[in-house]
Amino acid sequence: MHERLYIVPLDDGTRRFSEWLLSELCRKFNLKPQSGIVSRLPEEAYNAKLNQYYANPILSKLELLKGSDFEMILALTEEDLYTPNKNFVMGQANSVSHTAIVSIFRIKPEFYGLPEDEQLLRTRLLNVASHETGHMLGLKNCNNPECQMNEADTVTELDNRPDTFCTNCILNLTLPTKVKI
Ligand SMILES: [Zn+2]
Ligand SMILES: [Zn+2]
Repeated sequence: MHERLYIVPLDDGTRRFSEWLLSELCRKFNLKPQSGIVSRLPEEAYNAKLNQYYANPILSKLELLKGSDFEMILALTEEDLYTPNKNFVMGQANSVSHTAIVSIFRIKPEFYGLPEDEQLLRTRLLNVASHETGHMLGLKNCNNPECQMNEADTVTELDNRPDTFCTNCILNLTLPTKVKI
């Protein structure tokens, strides 16, 4: 049984990535592409003081939309995210509920005062989304800097992170998923 993946954009600014990202991730991880789940950012996750969204309740809400344990939901947002441990995160996943969210807020070159660059944005988005998909498939952060499961807290670290997994992480991927790289 192949695991099934949904990509769910939660706002207008991320809608244009969903089909492309779904096909990229399904090809890479050998997953079955799914569609039909529509959702928005839950207002209760918004922290007005920080002007950011708390990632964890968003993941809890996504879990309720799932039909089975074989389904994975990766949501996208243009809003800034945080968790209790970090003032911001580019992505966050829950390996138990098989849910994840990726924010494009801090991977847009404009955030750093640079000109828009759609190609760079997509490369970064795919990099973060692949890492979070690895978490949904049971992988932990990896200490190997030559592995996509290595943690990246800044765009510089992200841009230096490869788009492939180390042998160890490939072996640890939940069967029957196999990374085709
Ligand atoms: Zn991670
Ligand atoms: Zn690794």
